[in-house]
Amino acid sequence: MLSAKHFSMLLFAGLLLSACRSAKVPSPGSVHLALGNPSNAEASIAHPENYLIERPQYALSYNRDRGIPNWVSWQLNAGWLGDLPRLPFSPDNSLPGNWYRATPGDYTGSGYDRGHMTPAADRNRTPEDSQAVFLMTNILPQAPDNNQGPWEKLESYCRKLALQGKELAIIAGGYGTQTTLAGGKIAAPTHTWKVIVILDRPGSGVDGVSSATRVIAVDLPNLNGIKRMRWQKFRVSVDQIEAATGYDLLSNVPEAIQKQLESQVDGQAI
Ligand code: MN
Ligand code: MN
Repeated sequence: MLSAKHFSMLLFAGLLLSACRSAKVPSPGSVHLALGNPSNAEASIAHPENYLIERPQYALSYNRDRGIPNWVSWQLNAGWLGDLPRLPFSPDNSLPGNWYRATPGDYTGSGYDRGHMTPAADRNRTPEDSQAVFLMTNILPQAPDNNQGPWEKLESYCRKLALQGKELAIIAGGYGTQTTLAGGKIAAPTHTWKVIVILDRPGSGVDGVSSATRVIAVDLPNLNGIKRMRWQKFRVSVDQIEAATGYDLLSNVPEAIQKQLESQVDGQAI
């Protein structure tokens, strides 16, 4: 038998649940969206160009019409790092059934790499983590000299910081369209960008961000010919990435701190 007290508790829980479901910015608890959801992506087929996918390994905004993510956001600390081998790429079968699902073969012979946003080596501790980063929704067409050059060097630098005990909030994506693959279904961006917020204390989340927090933002041309260039050369302000993409990055950071951090260009010699 259900007592009146239990009934009202259940009713309250139900109301809370439905309030969460209808909230505009879902899952405020996602560790990968601790600093914000820069395009207010929603897990709704009513927004195919800004479709939120949340996994234990990352959160992303997928764009059905571009066949690539707009952005992918993830936490990195030493706890994510392992040594499992790479896996084959696979289509993301979680996408709505009538949407085109990019396949690994769509990139074959295109001249572009299957470029991870959340890197394979950031999520190689468990088979589940590895599988998640090899889904094609975490991938965009990346010029080999971008992917294997400065982009990769910056990924490695992030893991080095994680192994030193830092916690990083990273978000990356591409903007612009230089060409398309798969008969127009997949856009190859003109630029790839990344913003990295480096927290001294793991677990501190947005509360760990102050006006002294180091932020690295880069904007790379998605072209060959840059393989030997240093990633440091591509540093810009977060404001510049916001202007290029239209997103509000670091939106969960208090306004005054956000303004200050976003106007600066990292100049630290590493
Ligand atoms: Mn890569
Ligand atoms: Mn912002």
